[in-house]
Amino acid sequence: MAPRRRTRSVEVGGVRIGSDAPVVVQSMTNTDTADAIKTAIQVAELARAGSELVRITVNTQEAAAAVPAIREQLLRMNVSVPLVGDFHFNGDRLLRDNPACAEALDKLRINPGNVGKGSKRDEKYAAIVEIACRYDKPVRIGVNWGSLDPALLARVMDENARRAAPLSAVQVMREAMVTSALESAAQAVAWGLAPERIVLSCKVSGVADLIAIYRELASRCDYPLHLGLTEAGMGSKGIVASTAAMSVLLHEGIGDTIRVSLTPEPNGSRTQEVIVAQEMLQSMGLRAFTPMVAACPGCGRTSSTFFQELAADVQAYVRRMMPRWRDQYDGVERMTLAVMGCVVNGPGESKHANIGISLPGTGEVPVAPVYEDGQKTVTLKGEHIADEFRAIIDAYVARSYARKTAPPA
Ligand code: SF4
Repeated sequence: MAPRRRTRSVEVGGVRIGSDAPVVVQSMTNTDTADAIKTAIQVAELARAGSELVRITVNTQEAAAAVPAIREQLLRMNVSVPLVGDFHFNGDRLLRDNPACAEALDKLRINPGNVGKGSKRDEKYAAIVEIACRYDKPVRIGVNWGSLDPALLARVMDENARRAAPLSAVQVMREAMVTSALESAAQAVAWGLAPERIVLSCKVSGVADLIAIYRELASRCDYPLHLGLTEAGMGSKGIVASTAAMSVLLHEGIGDTIRVSLTPEPNGSRTQEVIVAQEMLQSMGLRAFTPMVAACPGCGRTSSTFFQELAADVQAYVRRMMPRWRDQYDGVERMTLAVMGCVVNGPGESKHANIGISLPGTGEVPVAPVYEDGQKTVTLKGEHIADEFRAIIDAYVARSYARKTAPPA
């Protein structure tokens, strides 16, 4: 894996993005920000799931006016996650009319393609930068493929037409994205925003485009980079596309904070995007959040549903217990578990995990050996294998990880 390339870092409400800081997980609410209570509840859910920054839409006067109330409600709920305000079209006016909103936010996100048109564009953009400087707020300059500044795109196309060997249409679009981010950052710096207060992003919805654009962006600047595939989609499509794109870049040391832009299932939890981001980073060995459960896919040797149920039960159990374990024990997030379907690979895989269980498989002797740190410690039988295995996990955690000392009263 390539070393992290950014030398610059940005502080956002106590969270450092860039340089040698761990890759930061962030997410975004989908509530109406004007509904301060509902938004605060969702921010808290995302933060408790592990989101280290949470972005909220600020699109109307009512939404901007609600931001301080959201912050206050979060404090009452004992949630201190940094809040990022997402501004498009009217950010200058909303921030000017609602100074308490600017104050309550930890970072502003602006899209250079949506700040304003023609001569108004620079005026409005400069006004947002001035407010960011006045309140000492970092800014993400977030270019998006769906709202690329048309004037800039036209200029890049004209320049391309004059080249001896013109770039393809796709290459021109990629170049325009990178140019938009870099020129917008240079403008903000010229207007007084410190380079140490800038994060850049260039989001597109195509995997190959995202990889090409971020490689180029990373080679041409030293700003911390917010990484994400925009409009990734729903379910497995969104997860696979986001992971395919981001893992290539993260493996090359590109990307300092990530967001997985999943469309939630109807009535599904917004926290899924946080879990996917965490699992992506943990699978790549970049961070550890929650004990990982390895499970075999099952096959004709596991014709009952018991194996799948136990694997799902164990995965849900460690995720449910993790907030408590995290407060009590050091390093428990690095614990590994294995739930295996039969003796073919079960004992071997189980021995590689901190705790593993190898189920018997259909037609085999109904016993399930348990391995702890490579040694077989017990064989479970009968109706209560799941309960007994959870108790073994609890006991392992209690004796294997150092207790954290209580903070001073
Ligand atoms: S461990 Fe056994 S049950 Fe699991 S996939 Fe391999 S052969 Fe099938």
